[in-house]
Amino acid sequence: MMKVYMDHSATTPIHDQVLKAMIPYLNDRFGNPSSVYSLGQEARQAVEQARSQVAALINSPAGDIIFTGGGTEADNQALIGYALSNQDKGRHIIVSAVEHHAVLETAQFLAKHGFDLTIVPVDNQGTVHPDYLREAMRPDTILVSIMHGNNEVGTIQPIQELAEIAHQGGAVFHTDAVQTIGKIPVDVKSLNVDMLSLSSHKIYGPKGVGCLYVRKGIRLSSFIHGGGQERHRRAGTENVPGIVGLGCAAEIAQQEMAQESKRLHHLATKLADGILQSIPDTYLTGHPHNRIPGHVSVCFKYVEGESILLMLDHMGVMASSGSACTSGSLEPSHVLLAMGFPHEIAHGSLRLTLGKGNSEEQVNYVLETLPPIIERLRAMSPLK
Ligand SMILES: *Cc1c(COP(=O)(O)O)cnc(C)c1O
Repeated sequence: MMKVYMDHSATTPIHDQVLKAMIPYLNDRFGNPSSVYSLGQEARQAVEQARSQVAALINSPAGDIIFTGGGTEADNQALIGYALSNQDKGRHIIVSAVEHHAVLETAQFLAKHGFDLTIVPVDNQGTVHPDYLREAMRPDTILVSIMHGNNEVGTIQPIQELAEIAHQGGAVFHTDAVQTIGKIPVDVKSLNVDMLSLSSHKIYGPKGVGCLYVRKGIRLSSFIHGGGQERHRRAGTENVPGIVGLGCAAEIAQQEMAQESKRLHHLATKLADGILQSIPDTYLTGHPHNRIPGHVSVCFKYVEGESILLMLDHMGVMASSGSACTSGSLEPSHVLLAMGFPHEIAHGSLRLTLGKGNSEEQVNYVLETLPPIIERLRAMSPLK
């Protein structure tokens, strides 16, 4: 049976070159970057080289990069770190309704601790209209956080315009760019953002490492307290192998992005068109064009996302759904609900996210496999 991994928005396999670059730092180059002897200084140099590699990918000065323990931590650090150290200017923050939980839950945490939170809506394609943000801005707004590309439905936000509105209102702008890094150009200068999060394991690097770009001049309190690492902003001995892996992954992403994104866009278009043509009562979710290359998200009426995933898994296809079956209660995705999909349609969501390992042959296999699965599920569906 063919094995088809189409869940690259959840995680990606480590690139061979990335693994090769990491191994020495798990092995004989084990030094602590804070140590003065050469073994330590070798590790220091490796960390600083990785910082330059990541900086080059997003067009930032290397000194504006803080390494973190992943994308979630970067989001937490941006929101909590900024809110705590700037509350003298105001206590109002804004996020969008389709943010990843790493931003949404962090914003809710701040709301529980005395900050005012506004969650701006999206339209039915998942876009935050500049007008929605304009309406939400207040004189005491200090921070706006809106993601670059949505993990569930693939919609890319008009970040440049949104950041401009935040700045005009005297607030800083953070974006979670975990899903767009390595897929479309992400340039902190042209996007005009003050803070940006990214994660290594979504770009063929190791898990548990990421970074936060913080524009020079932004006041941000230390997030993890302890030693003086990462310029007193993120204490703890650096995850040297992880950071080296992230740096290497960033460099490869930069080299391969243009060509690979074109390939993924072609494959995803074929896959999405094929699904929509062969399966009735199916909706493409997210923006039809302005979306992450390789990202296919659909909703099937009368079926339940989890059952599609299980049957696809039996056929060797690994994908995901927005509706997570947690503790027996089927909660449809907050993203699809925010886009105005009724519960019964939001329940039948399927996300297929393509990446380096996927071929045209695999797309054809999914196009053969999926229609009979949906047909079978619908035949036994009580919803129909
Ligand atoms: C995966 C993801 C994260 C979390 O990153 P981790 O490194 O897994 O903590 C945050 N935001 C978005 C949009 C993501 O897709």
